[in-house]
Amino acid sequence: MPEKSAKPLLRFAPSPNGRLHLGHAYSALYTWQAARLLGGTALLRIEDIDPQRSKPEFTAAIEEDLHWLGLDWPEPVMVQSERLDDYAAAGNRLRDRGLLYPCFCSRAELMATATGTDPDGAPLYPGTCRHMDRGEQIERLERGDPVQFRLDIEMALDRTGMLTFSVVGPLVTDRPQLRYARPERWGDVVLQRKGMPTSYHLSVVVDDAAQGISHVTRGRDMEAATDIHVLLQMLLGLGSPIYNFHRLILDDTGKKLSKSRSSETLADLRAKGWTPEDVRRAVGF
Ligand code: GLU
Repeated sequence: MPEKSAKPLLRFAPSPNGRLHLGHAYSALYTWQAARLLGGTALLRIEDIDPQRSKPEFTAAIEEDLHWLGLDWPEPVMVQSERLDDYAAAGNRLRDRGLLYPCFCSRAELMATATGTDPDGAPLYPGTCRHMDRGEQIERLERGDPVQFRLDIEMALDRTGMLTFSVVGPLVTDRPQLRYARPERWGDVVLQRKGMPTSYHLSVVVDDAAQGISHVTRGRDMEAATDIHVLLQMLLGLGSPIYNFHRLILDDTGKKLSKSRSSETLADLRAKGWTPEDVRRAVGF
């Protein structure tokens, strides 16, 4: 965690798998406003560890859209696909302590055996591979079976004990409140994906620490995932930033805007004649 006297650092961390829409504009404007209120700086970070979905042209488009909105950030921009060695090192530290185990389950097996759903509504992993015999683990690893590494959440919580973190409201300069984390709701999350030394959760925790982020501003849809991040920070000895969860911009049907629902992008709006001021007004700035 940065020293008390250190300048507050925030970040906007989009994934370049599409153009930005009004939801991203809100999140970015919110982050830059919070940085201003705190007398700090907002950084841009590109979260492009999904090789199937991330495209360099979207990174360029994100930067263009943010500049169009009047936002600036210090260079160089942190790009996750350039940091795989750092994530692998963090993952290996957890593996060395016996906290990760190899999981060979396919998506179909997971769907068929799930014991419920996680806070995002995805199937909850029942721990099928958790107690696999070491001999079988080695045999399958040597054979090159597709493998991902999961965190043994029970063992992890035994090591950390009760976890708390600090949450601050929309007035980010207010006194933060303490909250309890309940990462067990997620089951044994994947920390190293098939063919990847990392996952969203691991990268985000390693990078927030590497950049010295003091305040994480993110949408309320990321509130539950923060519990996993707090657990990983404790396991890796990284310290936790202060968190703030902002409202989401919803469409006419009350659903969160998203690329998959083909929400109108900032580029579409700009082509229709919208100005940056129109975008600010539309999302309440
Ligand atoms: N990269 C994530 C996204 O595009 C969010 C980053 C975070 O707050 O951890 O939604």
